[in-house]
Amino acid sequence: MEMLNSTDLTRETAIQTAQNEVILNAAYINGDWVTIEALVTDPDHSNIQALYDPNSGEVIATTRLCTSTHVEQAIAAADEAFASWSQISVSERARYLNAIAESMEQQFDKLVGLSVLNNGKPIEEAKIDVGDAIACYRYYANLITEQATWSKVSTLESGIRLLKTYSPVGICALITPWNFPMVTTSWKLAPALAAGCTVLLKPSEVTLLPELMLGNILSEIGVPKGVVNILPGAAEVGTAMTSHPLIDKVSFTGSNIVGEKVMVQAAKGIKDISLELGGKSAIVVCADADIDYACDLIIGGIFTNAGQICSATSRLVVHQDIAKQLFDTLKVKTESLQIGDGFATETQMGPLVSEQQLNQVKKFFDIATAENLNCLTGGQLLEASGYFVTPTVYTNVPTTSQLWMEEVFGPVLVCATFTDDAEAIRLANDSKFALAATIVSPDETAALEMALQIKAGHIWINEQQIVLPEAGWGGFKQSGIGRELGGDGLSAYQKSKHVLLTD
Ligand code: NAD
Repeated sequence: MEMLNSTDLTRETAIQTAQNEVILNAAYINGDWVTIEALVTDPDHSNIQALYDPNSGEVIATTRLCTSTHVEQAIAAADEAFASWSQISVSERARYLNAIAESMEQQFDKLVGLSVLNNGKPIEEAKIDVGDAIACYRYYANLITEQATWSKVSTLESGIRLLKTYSPVGICALITPWNFPMVTTSWKLAPALAAGCTVLLKPSEVTLLPELMLGNILSEIGVPKGVVNILPGAAEVGTAMTSHPLIDKVSFTGSNIVGEKVMVQAAKGIKDISLELGGKSAIVVCADADIDYACDLIIGGIFTNAGQICSATSRLVVHQDIAKQLFDTLKVKTESLQIGDGFATETQMGPLVSEQQLNQVKKFFDIATAENLNCLTGGQLLEASGYFVTPTVYTNVPTTSQLWMEEVFGPVLVCATFTDDAEAIRLANDSKFALAATIVSPDETAALEMALQIKAGHIWINEQQIVLPEAGWGGFKQSGIGRELGGDGLSAYQKSKHVLLTD
């Protein structure tokens, strides 16, 4: 991988990339950048979006957002492209996926820089975002070439042969959030393209800088016109995409409030749907755990990306016998975290992504005060420019507290204690969400037994937040519908077809 020295990953170089290479005020439709006109007739519904540097709160750039007219153009392009894209050989589709990965590798530092600039995350976390996205394109390039065109299904009937094949589901509406822009996009786009679908991609309007670079990459490697259309837009565009009669499949990652709307919108015409929604995942620390290591996992699980991770382990469930010692260590380690500019190499936690997200976290600090929660550390906004808050831990939090029940999507940990495994499992499962979990114990057999009983789509034992492309991703309960990544992630963009023949 060709990388610049990390000293070249600076705000200045990222701003230069944003100014010189990101195409603003345009949508990528049918293989071309189509200019988006300003909505001058209605100043109350202006389509101008400011893109912020969360470190300072300053505007980096402004861009115009699409309207439903662009959605119509993009759907027409995707519809026309579908006939040929769905029929070209899988090796050809794999070639394009590998070319995307290669081009992202060549532009690795630019993509990382834009991600730090527009999202606020520290450089090392942005590298994971881009690196995991590259791995995902490669993974699906490989997986699709391994899938046989026909497989034989065994049947008890004599004189009959039953064959199975897969077809692409059709034209897909892909909608992503801002927290890991490159990764969440790749988890949808890579399997959709591998399967032979054509797509409309609507990235979050908050982090358009890294996402729009994808248009440059697709254009540079010559992905056929109309196969991928990128629509910088907000709710209006998302609504138009998800309710359009020519869309066959909706894949959405975001909040539950919007997820519920998307489900209703997609009901029109009975569209296939995948939803990756919120989380309030537990980290269970057993009595025999190494306290120092457990604290590192707790900190990684809640303060990485300033807690803005769907799978953040935001509820700590710790054995009563070690709770006091663990809280003492956790306080010291939390208070020694380096908070600051994502571009500073020593930074361990950056700002929140936006003023809106800052207000969301502040709302929960106020609730914690009103509920009289015991604050071990943090609970404040930092008096700095930009959207900074302190990493925060509340102990002895009752399960009736709003902070126990609701997703904060910020660096806020709530803790409860248990006395036996049954209580640990009950507390871990005490949530309307069920996306992920971490179990910390040197006793692998006991931890695996616990993993069987914790409701979550992904469980780490003595690890945290590692997501491999081979592992399916998604939750139970209100964390969503379906799975991304792995073989399940490809199935989300395919329909099986059975063919029966007689001997
Ligand atoms: P959000 O729901 O506000 O926005 C997500 C996307 O939906 C954005 O692109 C937005 O423009 C679009 N949108 C808004 N209104 C729409 C509508 N009516 N129809 C269609 N699209 C619409 O979420 P966010 O604030 O960007 O992201 C944070 C949320 O995402 C958190 O709840 C987090 O848990 C969740 N998330 C989940 C996963 C997962 O894998 N389960 C991963 C990342 C984030």
